[in-house]
Amino acid sequence: MSAISIHPSVDHGWKPAAPNFGGGTLTCKCAQNPVVVTIKGQSAHNHVCGCTKCWKPQGAQFAMIAVVPRENLQVTENADKLAVVDPSAAIQRHACKGCGVHMYGRIENAKHPLYGLDFIHTELSQETGWSPPEFAAFVSSIIESGADPANQGAVRSRLKELGLEPYDCLSPPLMDFLATQAAKASGVLRA
Ligand SMILES: [Zn+2]
Ligand SMILES: [Zn+2]
Repeated sequence: MSAISIHPSVDHGWKPAAPNFGGGTLTCKCAQNPVVVTIKGQSAHNHVCGCTKCWKPQGAQFAMIAVVPRENLQVTENADKLAVVDPSAAIQRHACKGCGVHMYGRIENAKHPLYGLDFIHTELSQETGWSPPEFAAFVSSIIESGADPANQGAVRSRLKELGLEPYDCLSPPLMDFLATQAAKASGVLRA
């Protein structure tokens, strides 16, 4: 096995997405009265992320994060334990006050290009068949969390070996999508 650990859910490979996957429940790490979030249907755009904002499991260099339509997400148990990590952030990350796990991230600004999508960590689910990670985002940012800059070459090689193309922002299709939404909003592109 590689000496470089990316994230516990990708280091040993992963299962493919299940056809017609119906969703599942995300549970926080509290031993008692955990927060439970119920997701209807499959996730999309799953990826590992090196940014400093996404929740990462203990010791992991990257987070693993996907999106679902916000109408497909419901907090079904212990919602009172959730609090927004940073109310000024574009993505409001609702974290458990007990264990610190981020249960979902939501965009409240209707003009944001990703409005309508909630961010989730599918590793919090017991179900298998979620859409697997497709790429690595914000790889350079792990340095901001304390990673040794001299190891970046090895980290990128490992990501490529896993089939997770490393990018320093989002993947080109997602960056193109964000720019297209911005161009439509400004009138440069006709909607
Ligand atoms: Zn918790
Ligand atoms: Zn991130």
